[in-house]
Amino acid sequence: MVVISTEPDRFEKLKALSTMAGDDVLGRPPAVSQFRRDLTPSGDGRTYRAPYSRKEKNPMPGIYKASMPGGKTISLMRTMFTDFCMMDCHFCPNSHWVPRRRFAYKVDELAKTFAEMAERQMVSGLFLSSGIMGSGASRTTQKMVETVEAIRKRHKFNGYIHLKVMPGTSQDIVEAAHRLGTRLSVNIETPTDPGLQRLSPMKDMNRGILDPMSWIDRLTKARTGETVGQATQMIVGAAEESDADILGRITQLYGDWKLKRVYFVPFRPVRYTPMEEHTPTPSEREYRLYQMDWLKRVYRFENDEIRLAFDNRGLLDLDQDPKAVIALENPEKFPVDVNSADLSMLLRTPGIGPISADRIMRHRRRFTIDNWRDLQTMGVVRKKARGFVVMPGHRPEPSKQLRLELLGHSEPRSSVDLRDVKQELVASRTNAGPMPTGEHSDCADRASCAGCPMFGSPGHPGSVAVNPATREAVQV
Ligand code: SF4
Repeated sequence: MVVISTEPDRFEKLKALSTMAGDDVLGRPPAVSQFRRDLTPSGDGRTYRAPYSRKEKNPMPGIYKASMPGGKTISLMRTMFTDFCMMDCHFCPNSHWVPRRRFAYKVDELAKTFAEMAERQMVSGLFLSSGIMGSGASRTTQKMVETVEAIRKRHKFNGYIHLKVMPGTSQDIVEAAHRLGTRLSVNIETPTDPGLQRLSPMKDMNRGILDPMSWIDRLTKARTGETVGQATQMIVGAAEESDADILGRITQLYGDWKLKRVYFVPFRPVRYTPMEEHTPTPSEREYRLYQMDWLKRVYRFENDEIRLAFDNRGLLDLDQDPKAVIALENPEKFPVDVNSADLSMLLRTPGIGPISADRIMRHRRRFTIDNWRDLQTMGVVRKKARGFVVMPGHRPEPSKQLRLELLGHSEPRSSVDLRDVKQELVASRTNAGPMPTGEHSDCADRASCAGCPMFGSPGHPGSVAVNPATREAVQV
C-alpha cells in the first residue's frame, strides 16, 4: 500500500524527493539535519557558505551539476514535486507497484525552498520533475507550473528552469509551461510504440507523448527571441529495443522537433515491479549510445554511416568506439593526410573531434603539420588517431583492419569477430609470458609497463600481444 506523507517538514521532503529525482544524484543522501543546517540562516549574520563550496566536487544530493552548451556547468536544484505516481510503468520506483512512503510538496513550500537555495547561491537553476498525482497528468503539470510561476513572479528568479511535462497533459497547460520554462521535456521512455506498451501500458505514445512534444515545438517556433529548448529521456534495455530503433527515433526527434538532447538511462530492475527479474542494462551500452548520439548531433554523421557500427541485431559493439568501428569499415578512406583532408574527413578520423579538426584547419593555413606534439596540442588523441593519419615524417602504423588481416580475419568484420580476435590476442599474450618492458614506442613511460594500471586494457598502447602465427606484435 502506498502512503502519502503530508506531515514531514520541507527538509525531509527535500531529501526524499531530490533523491528520487534521478539516478545521477551525486553522493549518498546526507542526514536531514544537514539540509536543515544548510538552509537555516546563521543568527550572527555572517555570510552563508554553500555546502558545495566546501567540497566543490561533491555537492549535496539535490544539487546537481549539469553541463550546459559550451561546456559550462551550473548547479541545479533537482527535485520531484511528488514521488507518488498512479501510473504502472514497469521500470519505475515511483510507480504504484512499489509500496513505500511517498512525499509531496505544496506549491509555496517548494517555491520558497528553491528561492532560499538560490538566494544563498547554492543553486542557479531548477530541474523539476514529478510523478503523476491521482488527479491526473494535467493537474500535476499545472501544480508544477504554479510553482514555477511563484518562483518567477514572487521570488523574481529569472534563471534556468527545466520543467518536465507529464505525458497526457492538455495543450493549454503545455502552453503555460512553455511561457515559464527555459527547457521543457516529455519523457518518451522507449523508441517504439510496442515497446511503450510493454513498459508503460497506461501511456499513449501518440496522444500522451508525441502530441505534447509537437505542441512545444510549434510554440518554440512561434516565439521570437530566446527559444525554449526541448529534451526527452529513454530507458534503455527494458523493452528489448535495438540501437537501430533508437537511432531511428532520435533522427526524427532531432530532425522534426529540433530537440536539444536525448538522455539515455540504463534500465535497472526495481523490486516489487513486474520487471524486478529483468536483466539490468550494462552502463557500457548507455556510454556507446551517447557516442552514437554525439556522432549524429555534433559530427553530423549520416544514418547510413552510423549503421555500419551496428551488428546484425542492430546493436552497437560494447567494446568498441562506434567512430573507430565506422572507420575500420571504410579502410579505403584511411589514412587521411592531416595537411590536406577536408573537414568532413577529419571529423571522421578517430581521435579527432570538432574542436581539434577546427584547430587543424586553421593551423595548416600557415604551417605544415609534421609532428605529433603539434597535433596533440590541438587536441588530437594520438592513441586513437595514429593508425588513421599521415603527415610528413610520420609513417602510419597499419590500421587495425590490416592487423586483423594479419591474423587471418580478413572477412567482413562483425562485432563478434572483433571480440573473438581480442580474446585470441589476450590468450596469445598469456601464452607468450610477461611482456618485456620498453617495447611500446607510444608510451611515455616505457620503463614501468608491468606496474601500469592501463596495461592489458583494450586500445592501450602497451597492450600489445604477439601473434603466434606471424610472430608480429599486434594491438589488443
Ligand atoms: S509516469 Fe513517470 S513517475 Fe509515473 S510510473 Fe511512469 S515513469 Fe514513473
